[in-house]
Amino acid sequence: MSQQSHTQQAIPHFVHGARTGADAARTSDVFDPSTGQVQARVALASPEEVTAAVDSAAEAFRTWSAMNPQRRGRVLLTWVDLINANAGELAETLSREHGKTFEDAKGDIQRGVEVVEFAAGAPHLLKGEFSTSAGTGIDVHSLRQPLGVVAGITPFNFPAMIPLWKAGIALAAGNTFVLKPSERDPSVPVRLAELALEAGLPAGALNVVHGDKAAVDALIDDPRVKAVGFVGSTPIAQSIYEHAARRGKRAQCFGGAKNHAVIMPDADLEMAADALIGAAFGSAGERCMAISVAVPVGEETADRLVALLRERMASLTVGPSLDPSSDFGPVVSAQAKERIESLIQAGVDEGAELVVDGRGVVVEGHEGGFYVGATLFDRVRKDMRIHAEEIFGPVLCVVRAKDYEEALSLPSDHEYGNGVAIFTRDGDTARDFTTRVECGMVGVNVPIPVPIAYYTFGGWKASGFGDLNQHGTDGLKFYTKTKTVTTRWPSGPRQGGAAASEGASFVMPAGS
Ligand code: NAD
Repeated sequence: MSQQSHTQQAIPHFVHGARTGADAARTSDVFDPSTGQVQARVALASPEEVTAAVDSAAEAFRTWSAMNPQRRGRVLLTWVDLINANAGELAETLSREHGKTFEDAKGDIQRGVEVVEFAAGAPHLLKGEFSTSAGTGIDVHSLRQPLGVVAGITPFNFPAMIPLWKAGIALAAGNTFVLKPSERDPSVPVRLAELALEAGLPAGALNVVHGDKAAVDALIDDPRVKAVGFVGSTPIAQSIYEHAARRGKRAQCFGGAKNHAVIMPDADLEMAADALIGAAFGSAGERCMAISVAVPVGEETADRLVALLRERMASLTVGPSLDPSSDFGPVVSAQAKERIESLIQAGVDEGAELVVDGRGVVVEGHEGGFYVGATLFDRVRKDMRIHAEEIFGPVLCVVRAKDYEEALSLPSDHEYGNGVAIFTRDGDTARDFTTRVECGMVGVNVPIPVPIAYYTFGGWKASGFGDLNQHGTDGLKFYTKTKTVTTRWPSGPRQGGAAASEGASFVMPAGS
């Protein structure tokens, strides 16, 4: 963060349908991780600017919530069309600020768009329940109503997907939204909000404010913000969850991860090795669903798996994010690179076997970039830091398990419980694993089991705070409140005339 005076305009907020704050005094540098150079600055919102965004969202709520859900759905579908039409430009910007490859950036956008498409079915998704004759002459129905102004605070690693997951569902339900995206790759969220305006969203229904803790605190403290959806690291997720709870608002806060893949002796090992390479090193391991621990069962499985991984890793290319020959790009910042490399050293110091060392990679012509090569550790023990902590880089740890029960216990007993996978040909083993493992999202021969839009996404234990998941039906529940209406009409002669009085009743009404 910097308090500097610059002549160059900063990446602005997007409030009430316009770019604002480009001349901000407080800004943060935005790097190109491929070169290591500062490519822009982003404005950091003051509490007053956050209040202005909430003012605008509160005003827009009146019109947007009153629009019928089918019309809201049409606006969302037009938004989808515009995002798709601009996907190339968005992906390039995303790739340049984040460091993931262009193709991967397109996937980031696509997985977000799929949730907006799902949310466009709002008329169906918001249907309430109805029960006739719950008592004599009594009907009961329930309504799902929007909350009002809601907020999303999102991480650097999916700057399109996660804002779209949150805003898409919240808007479909009739809420208005204030997004506080990551200050490290802020351009795509602003562009998405501009496209939403172009699609017909009223000004103020989707505002974007950049910032740090000051902006986040101002959002949570504003009594008009009714719900807070957060995704990021676990310590921040927990503190935001507690802060929001103290303010009496609903919150869902998703945190870090350490995702294991168990490889049974009967697995197709070639398939498992290919899957692990993509899941561990894709996006430089900066995915909350990346596989960071492989758990082969039995020494023979482990020896064969490590050999296959080592062979495949020899041909991996780390390079500039927009170079089509790069399998994966740099990590997001110099601090991230330093932290990853220091954790690799911790693994060496604690006695793990460093099979492939990704430190010290130099990419010609991009010597200042934040590159870490693919790294493989074998014979990692569960008490080592490289197993206990989230590394969030291209580092795969092999923890050898003597049997299935030991393999099952590793993800189940871990602090985090986001994703997990098992590779096997045996249905009974897979069924036992999916039933007993203590993680929120499970893959069977699928390394990154990110649920599709109409299912829900969420981890367990330290990977998620709150009781509802993201997108799918849980997303709708999170961004709506239920009202239950019990109705009784006076019964009597159909053509006027009074019903016979039954007198007052003093007992608790019951269903039977
Ligand atoms: P982060 O926690 O540093 O930041 C997330 C958001 O919180 C950003 O918008 C940031 O500006 C804001 N923030 C940072 N410090 C804050 C503070 N002190 N008070 C208030 N707000 C603050 O996370 P990140 O580095 O951007 O993202 C990587 C992390 O996110 C990893 O741990 C990854 O596992 C996790 N993640 C989890 C999921 C999931 O669904 N569980 C998905 C994606 C990423």
